[in-house]
Amino acid sequence: MKTIRLYYENAYVKEFDATVLSCVTVKNGYEILLDKTAFFPEGGGQKSDEGFIGGVAVADVQEVNGEICHYTTEPLEEGVAVSCSIDWNKRFLRMQNHSGEHIVSGVVHSLFGYDNVGFHMDEGLVTVDFNGELTREQLDMVEDKANEAIYADYKINCFFPSADELDKYDYRSKLDLTENVRLVEIENTDLCACCAPHVKSTGEIGIVKILDFMRHRGGVRIVMKSGYDALLDYREKYRNVYEISGLLSAKQECVAEYVKRLMDETDAIKRQFYQFRLSVAQRDKESLKYTNDISYLITDGYDADMMREVANYGAEKSAICIVFSGDDEIGYSYIACSLSYDMKKVAAHINKTLNGRGGGRDTMIQGKVAVDKSSIVAFLNSVDFNG
Ligand SMILES: [Zn+2]
Repeated sequence: MKTIRLYYENAYVKEFDATVLSCVTVKNGYEILLDKTAFFPEGGGQKSDEGFIGGVAVADVQEVNGEICHYTTEPLEEGVAVSCSIDWNKRFLRMQNHSGEHIVSGVVHSLFGYDNVGFHMDEGLVTVDFNGELTREQLDMVEDKANEAIYADYKINCFFPSADELDKYDYRSKLDLTENVRLVEIENTDLCACCAPHVKSTGEIGIVKILDFMRHRGGVRIVMKSGYDALLDYREKYRNVYEISGLLSAKQECVAEYVKRLMDETDAIKRQFYQFRLSVAQRDKESLKYTNDISYLITDGYDADMMREVANYGAEKSAICIVFSGDDEIGYSYIACSLSYDMKKVAAHINKTLNGRGGGRDTMIQGKVAVDKSSIVAFLNSVDFNG
């Protein structure tokens, strides 16, 4: 039972009539065989087509032991004639992306001799792995050459040569097949073994854009988009650059330079602010209060750096120093330092008495307490951390 593969005869069949040869129950639904199909089964790095058979949605199509199996969630009656349609929008985007990938792989092979050793096509994104490294400049060259091939609108021919004929061709291939090898020939550009549907001429791809690249297993992985996906990508990126340019009041071609300058300015302000905070903390060291062997400061608007600065200083002047920052409404954060006390015990003591939480290391603890200032002062005047 061999299904006629309409997508091999004509990759542009969107709707067709067929007869249901069999419908069997499988896990999660039904497996349907047709006498002919335009549904491309997953293969060659390309996902399967989606669409409808007799009004029933096709979720997946796989080639199993040479048969094209359509998977649905509803059954179809065997022997009946059905009208079928494939999701042409998705299919055409995949054809654009897949043919675009062949061009890029062909150009890389002819310019640098590297092979395509991995190809993955997800919705809107294609990755291709080559077994040699390429620089950004070299990839720009590849991109130029690939788009020249698109502007030239070269024919793309798909055919099955006989085993004898196959020997005469020098084609790219990942597998060592000798039978039923289908070749995809892009005039003046590439010849590659491939089972997937392709556009009929390179002009239909519109554009090929290499977006990103990274080192990968001793070679390079490139991320690329072709055709309508490349247009959508350009639209989204243009919208972003347009907005950034408006926000910065900068020309679009200068936004990266402006952002770099802004980041440098932000770093400088951060450094200045850090210095300012430290100088406030230095000044407030003079305001430390002392009671028994404790020094403390209750303030507001302090961050952890400032609290630590004062607490470290106080810990040299007394057995323990505790810095609180906050107000009676939201509570107080604290940092405490000591070179002699068991600070885990101190934390437990503070947390229990002042309705707090927190902990830390042997010499420093930090946390929060939910009491007012007078309670903190009363606590500090009566507590004996040594006891
Ligand atoms: Zn292919």
